[in-house]
Amino acid sequence: MVGLALAKALYAIPTWTRTVRLVHEHDALRVALGCGDAPPSHWACYRFAAKLRAHQALLDECIGRVTDSLQAKLKGYGDHVAIDASDMPAYANGQRYTSKNGPERERFSDPDASWGHRSAVSTRKGGGFYGYKLQAAVCTKTGLPVAWSVETARANESMFVAPLIDAARQRGFAVDSAAADKAYDIERVYAECAERDCLPIIPVRQTGAVKRGDHLPPECEHGTWTFAGSDYKRQASKWRCPTGECKPASTWIKASRLHPLIPRETKRWKQMYRKRAAVEREFGRLKHDWALLPLRVRGVERVRLHADLAILAKLSCTLERARAATRARVAARAAQRE
Ligand SMILES: [Zn+2]
Repeated sequence: MVGLALAKALYAIPTWTRTVRLVHEHDALRVALGCGDAPPSHWACYRFAAKLRAHQALLDECIGRVTDSLQAKLKGYGDHVAIDASDMPAYANGQRYTSKNGPERERFSDPDASWGHRSAVSTRKGGGFYGYKLQAAVCTKTGLPVAWSVETARANESMFVAPLIDAARQRGFAVDSAAADKAYDIERVYAECAERDCLPIIPVRQTGAVKRGDHLPPECEHGTWTFAGSDYKRQASKWRCPTGECKPASTWIKASRLHPLIPRETKRWKQMYRKRAAVEREFGRLKHDWALLPLRVRGVERVRLHADLAILAKLSCTLERARAATRARVAARAAQRE
């Protein structure tokens, strides 16, 4: 059954029924899965999925074991993450109105989903969509997910930063910094990150305070003050007069949304923010290569299981590749010695 779940994600098949049919006519797959002449029926698959939903703790443990092994293999996995949300249109009618100029749709085939907003991608326009959002924290170094959750599309993404960081820490990831886009530029997110000793890397939104220029470094007649390091214990950054003629020549600014511990003017901030793209890449790969989309299940519980299995399949394959690489290295070293 686990092999079937893996095959489903590997071959990017949206349903169990089609996965079973593929295994049926594919001798090599049957051998690989070790199910002889009689692969499980699609009913067995759906029963298995129902059992997995009922025993979420076991599935979480399984994911935890895979991420543990991956942490041992891949250095820096989960040290710095990028957080974002991505649209997952529900397996339901995505038309908002039942007819042209008609009334708004009230009954949906998937009542757990809701209307949310997504941004434009390629030639697709941005706008409203009906479905779910995958909230994820992705490692910026390895490009692998470290924590994720599926929420209804209406839910505000900034609410999931703290739970994602907590979930990642529970799996043993360091999460020293979290990069996110403008949508997360909210004072509460900075406070939640500070509480968790995690550096937020978020660009500034055009709010009233920003229009006034409150986010700019201090100035004096000698010019703009320069950044002189941050004290993480004190949660403040130090700024210095460019010529040092002012009295006092430096000042501490408490960390906040307008003045983060890693100032947005610094090269370090820009480098870290650039790595945020990792999360967008990973969404693309999960959706197109690992059968995260299209959804062919309804209800948030089923959609969550679907996302868990797709990501678990991807992580397991990465782990297997890492192990194969280690085996090859060991073999090559042994051959050299002989
Ligand atoms: Zn000065």
